[in-house]
Amino acid sequence: MSDDKVKTAAMAAFTKYLTQHKLRKTPERYAILDKVFDLNDHFTVESLHAALHAEGYHVSCTTVYNTLEHLTEATLVRRRTFGRQPAQYEKITGLTNHHHLVCTSCGKVREIKDSALDSTLSSLRFGTFRPAYTDLYIYGVCSRCSKKKRTSADKTTKTIKNTVNKQHK
Ligand SMILES: [Zn+2]
Ligand SMILES: [Zn+2]
Repeated sequence: MSDDKVKTAAMAAFTKYLTQHKLRKTPERYAILDKVFDLNDHFTVESLHAALHAEGYHVSCTTVYNTLEHLTEATLVRRRTFGRQPAQYEKITGLTNHHHLVCTSCGKVREIKDSALDSTLSSLRFGTFRPAYTDLYIYGVCSRCSKKKRTSADKTTKTIKNTVNKQHK
């Protein structure tokens, strides 16, 4: 599916959701949905709000937040919380099932795709419980942070050595 088709399908699904829940079909809500489906990354309420403002849509943070809640409910958007970071959102396109590697040191999030893992996860059975989707968060330390840790550890060793040497002179 092309990006435009994905967006059109999302618009239709949102219209259906708003009708079912007797919610108003305001232009603001559609502008927010439109922007969300232009984004390929995770975003926060604040970053989406700022992006809308930059394009001349002066909607309040509350409207952005409420619309995202509706989009989440309508399963067009997924809400993510990585560790202690503020909630992040991302669109759901139906095609992209991915998981997240979260760095516990800098908070960086990397997306991974693994079809073997996906088929294992979808083959799992939990009695009468019917799983809809699976989200996997793998926590650890990213390469940049582990490099940083190594170099600062090296420096500490060098400083200790230098101090020891000076004291012996
Ligand atoms: Zn990191
Ligand atoms: Zn993601």
